[in-house]
Amino acid sequence: MDYKVIYEGKSKLVCEGPDDKSYVMVFKDTATAGNGAKKEELNGKGVLNRRISGLIYDYLMKNGIETHLLETIDDNTVLVKKAEILQVEVIVRNVAAGSFSKKYGVEEGAALHNRVVEFCYKSDELGDPMMNDSQITAVGLATQEELDTLRREALRIDDLLIAYFEKLGIRLIDFKLEFGRADGKILLCDEISPDSCRLWDSKTNAKMDKDRFRREMGQVLEGYADVLSRMEAEKN
Ligand code: UDP
Repeated sequence: MDYKVIYEGKSKLVCEGPDDKSYVMVFKDTATAGNGAKKEELNGKGVLNRRISGLIYDYLMKNGIETHLLETIDDNTVLVKKAEILQVEVIVRNVAAGSFSKKYGVEEGAALHNRVVEFCYKSDELGDPMMNDSQITAVGLATQEELDTLRREALRIDDLLIAYFEKLGIRLIDFKLEFGRADGKILLCDEISPDSCRLWDSKTNAKMDKDRFRREMGQVLEGYADVLSRMEAEKN
């Protein structure tokens, strides 16, 4: 189907919906890393991420998380409620990895004394810099009340996802969330997939996520497909 593209992101197209209250969101096969410096087409990534994200959203919504998802249109396309995306990304960390390990000199895989919630300014130009609450409210990206909601919802989602992945023999190391404003509420938006989460096999600590692409480890989509097949097996 041809949709009128409003915005093309690195891994998704946002298109006009059937009415002025919705958008059509298409998951692309493009993989990017390093703020777009590394870019490749991975055939089938869009479908895998749409399916994984769809099952995660179903589970979160059943557990009371409000999201922008309205319905699935086809295997790589969904209908979502129009929301004003907050320019603040929320990162939750259960285990040290990635930029946290690098920046603070903590070994990857090290246990943390508490979970970490980070806010980052969603700006490719500036390289998504981390911001604290007073910086965010000072420049008007969100109100303190909204930040309190983001933190609370992100930790609820973390609790739910840790339990979900644990059953599949997967450790949820960290992940990134996006939220939007619609009808006076804050909704979970965008995808939750191996593009936006670090997922390690519980027994072997093998990476099943986008680090396979970032670090040129190969077998990227095999990792994603393994995550999906465990999710589907648990569902049945
Ligand atoms: N993440 C993301 N988009 C971003 C930045 C981070 O989806 O623009 C995810 C990433 O996949 C990981 C978590 O957020 O699961 C923490 O990422 P980190 O800050 O360690 O950054 P990275 O090492 O990916 O640069």
